[in-house]
Amino acid sequence: MPTIFARIIAGQAPATIIYQDELVTAFKDIHPLAPVHILIVPNKEIATVNDVTPDDEAMLGRMFTAARKIAQAMGIAESGYRLLVNCRDDAGQEVYHLHMHLVGGRRLGPMLARRD
Ligand code: AMP
Repeated sequence: MPTIFARIIAGQAPATIIYQDELVTAFKDIHPLAPVHILIVPNKEIATVNDVTPDDEAMLGRMFTAARKIAQAMGIAESGYRLLVNCRDDAGQEVYHLHMHLVGGRRLGPMLARRD
């Protein structure tokens, strides 16, 4: 079964596409956590960071150059933003198709809540 992200990339499920090239697709997160919340997703279906290989290095680099372009286009390059990738259960990964969150447009606070 293709993931929801694979269906979005193929144009078979709705999304607000922000950027697409031969390696990655970026679209708005359906439940944004900040004024800007974009998901940058490889077009190739890779479940998690655990599943990447050296053959994926061009695509992994493209995720970052896409992030830079999108942040610039969204007007948050100077104010700053966070790039985040969840891997499996302890990180709370919900969709098993590798993706990078780009969040910004407000002060984001500490990266993790401190456990006492
Ligand atoms: P993660 O917890 O890192 O797997 O993040 C999955 C993200 O995908 C969440 O922030 C969801 O809000 C988002 N999401 C799930 N379904 C969709 C969808 N159909 N379109 C856009 N974003 C989605």
